[in-house]
Amino acid sequence: MLTHPSNVVFLIGFIVYVSIRGVFKERTKRNQKVVNRADGVEKMLMAIVIPGGLFLPVLYLFTPWLGFADYHLPRAAPWCGAALMVAALWLFYRSHADLGLNWSVTLELRKDHQLITQGVYRYIRHPMYASIWLWCVAQGLLLENWLAGWYSLITFALMYFVRTPREERMMRESFGQEYEDYMRKTGRLFPRLRS
Ligand code: SAH
Repeated sequence: MLTHPSNVVFLIGFIVYVSIRGVFKERTKRNQKVVNRADGVEKMLMAIVIPGGLFLPVLYLFTPWLGFADYHLPRAAPWCGAALMVAALWLFYRSHADLGLNWSVTLELRKDHQLITQGVYRYIRHPMYASIWLWCVAQGLLLENWLAGWYSLITFALMYFVRTPREERMMRESFGQEYEDYMRKTGRLFPRLRS
């Protein structure tokens, strides 16, 4: 509930997170899609990740209904959570800004899609997913509730491990050698130390 300072911190971050998504969704809305790989598996993953990730924190913050899953974390946990949240929001914003009109919420490619290899994409291929990993851990450390805190991490982990190879296959099929070269220079979530 909103009486706890760490929950207020989470709510502020949550509003920023949803707003960043909203702004970029609006910007890319009219940019035509020419490849769509959002099959049954992808739709199922989105249906598991997105509603739970949005509604469980809101239910936890504004109603007593999830109280049965409350527990207590060490006092340092919310501080670590707040630091991770700031890092997550920065990377979430930067990756949207660097992808620009090429961003999609699912496995799609847009008309005149460009392969982005600059900005945060220069070092890693999935900075947006890296930011969501950070976000999910921050959420777990800020909300002292098993469901509202950790549901997102578990379901996002499932999405990440199923989606990422499929996304990279789509990118290789569309950009060929250019994407192969990009893969050799970058890591998925961590920069490559040796190329
Ligand atoms: N996996 C990336 C992007 C997530 S958004 C990340 O975590 O940062 C998903 C969409 O972004 C994909 O469907 C694809 O259309 C697009 N995309 C992914 N990597 C890209 C890149 N390097 N350049 C341009 N578009 C990319």
